[in-house]
Amino acid sequence: MDFAEPEEHRALRAAVAGIAAKFGPRYYAERAAARRPCAELWQALGEAGFIGVNVPEEYGGGGGGLTELALVCEEIAAAGTPLLLLLVSAAISAEMISDFGTDEQRGTWLPGLASGAVKVVFAITEPDAGSNTLRISTTASRDGDDWVLRGTKYYISGVDEAEAILVVARTGQDERGGQLSLFIVPTDAPGLDKHLLPVDLLLPERQFTLHFDDVRVGPGALVGKEGEGFRQVFHGLNPERITGAALGVGIARYALGAAARYAAERKVWAEPIGAHQGVAHPLAKAKIETELAALMIRQAAWQHDHGLPAGESSNMAKYAAAEAAIAAVDAAIQAHGGNGLASEYGLMPYWGLARLLRIAPVNREMILNYIAQHSLGLPRSY
Ligand SMILES: Cc1cc2nc3c(=O)[nH]c(=O)nc-3n(C[C@H](O)[C@H](O)[C@H](O)COP(=O)(O)OP(=O)(O)OC[C@H]3O[C@@H](n4cnc5c(N)ncnc54)[C@H](O)[C@@H]3O)c2cc1C
Repeated sequence: MDFAEPEEHRALRAAVAGIAAKFGPRYYAERAAARRPCAELWQALGEAGFIGVNVPEEYGGGGGGLTELALVCEEIAAAGTPLLLLLVSAAISAEMISDFGTDEQRGTWLPGLASGAVKVVFAITEPDAGSNTLRISTTASRDGDDWVLRGTKYYISGVDEAEAILVVARTGQDERGGQLSLFIVPTDAPGLDKHLLPVDLLLPERQFTLHFDDVRVGPGALVGKEGEGFRQVFHGLNPERITGAALGVGIARYALGAAARYAAERKVWAEPIGAHQGVAHPLAKAKIETELAALMIRQAAWQHDHGLPAGESSNMAKYAAAEAAIAAVDAAIQAHGGNGLASEYGLMPYWGLARLLRIAPVNREMILNYIAQHSLGLPRSY
């Protein structure tokens, strides 16, 4: 077992961190407050080859895997510039189109996903299904060679920035519930209604409710096999969990760095406030939790990249990283006192994002259900 990070990974970290540092937390906070995407940062990372680091080389990508994409996610977040759409466009959509798409779909979508010029976002969540994916009611029915989609999705991130949406729809029914399939739907498809869904997080990426009102797509829109969506989605959700975890670890690293600098300088008694264990210990505890989560991310990404089962470790990594990020940002805000809430110190956007990571892409309780059932063999509770 070798825990030394390979030279090429250290170089990747340094290069990504270098680009993100040119933008920095102030840029991120301004974009988050204005709900405007960090388009210039996305473009700079894309031009340097980092958005498509996991896309096969033949399509212009970096030919790496989730290990490399997780490093990109972690480093941009650690520089104070986390990009939520990497979790959907680069992790889910690029991975699913690579693994399950036809040659034509790969040729159409992967070069743009590799360069960052194109974004494909992901729509699974529905008002009446939520965590219970098998209950989704958006349907895709055959009409001649075409498919016609009907239904509603909500909380879909980045639809305004994307060229297409990878949509999970029901194409049949079996004893477990809906038989699911995946479709690539252009964001300008006739019959697709997009409504902004305001959230009170300080996030550059915006969320949407989508109504599919007889949206017609051709036979080439089906990704993978009809009815195989559940298996495919679960394969694609591990990358989302791993990159979500990496974003959490990066946010935690950013917050802990800011807090340590502040607590070492700020003096209101004889010693800097960081000398008080009431300030230092929550930061130290969050640091430990962050490093543990980072180790689990490496294992999960390695398993995914080697075609090994990665569900348990991806879930554990996502759980641990979300909790570490919340603990780190919360301790950082507390260490800053009133300044922790000030726009000037810019910590609140990370608190919202860390808090989101406990709910999405999968909530904490569904992870605990998974571990209880699959790792511990306990009865399913729901
Ligand atoms: C900012 C933001 C961005 C998002 N982006 C996307 C996106 O791009 N694409 C997309 O498809 N979705 C997206 N989502 C949706 C997100 O993935 C869901 O909100 C999340 O999966 C939880 O589903 P839900 O909100 O329906 O919660 P519900 O399923 O209604 O659950 C609510 C709560 O109940 C508890 N719970 C539910 N079931 C169980 C159970 N069996 N056992 C124990 N506890 C349980 C959990 O605590 C859970 O948090 C986004 C959400 C937000 C807020």
